[in-house]
Amino acid sequence: MIATLEIATSEHSVLVDITDLVADKVRERGVQSGVCTLYVPHTTAAVTINEGADPTVAEDLLAGLERLVPWNHPYRHREGNSAAHIKATLVGSSVQVPIDGGRLLLGTWQRIFFCEFDGPRTRKVRLHLPTGA
Ligand code: ZN
Repeated sequence: MIATLEIATSEHSVLVDITDLVADKVRERGVQSGVCTLYVPHTTAAVTINEGADPTVAEDLLAGLERLVPWNHPYRHREGNSAAHIKATLVGSSVQVPIDGGRLLLGTWQRIFFCEFDGPRTRKVRLHLPTGA
């Protein structure tokens, strides 16, 4: 089954912790075990899993990506957002998280982040969940 999250951002580039929203969907749908696939159907946004305990990690991830792929560069794409397209490709458009006992089996420090690289915008994250038991 598919569930959809809508994520509204207010900044140009930001990582949004969506772990609790995903966990709510797993609980609402009564999923006990299997794999949750999260998929971002956008070309300038992404999804990743990384440390959420210290918020400076997300800030450093964004800053590191900006150093790798600076916004200001003579890219060819006329829309002017090639840096966001490149970051989306580097980070990726999907992740998978195992579910057991109705819970996401994330590591102690892991959180799921929606990554906006060309906001602010309202975006979708698709969740493909196993059928609830
Ligand atoms: Zn573009």
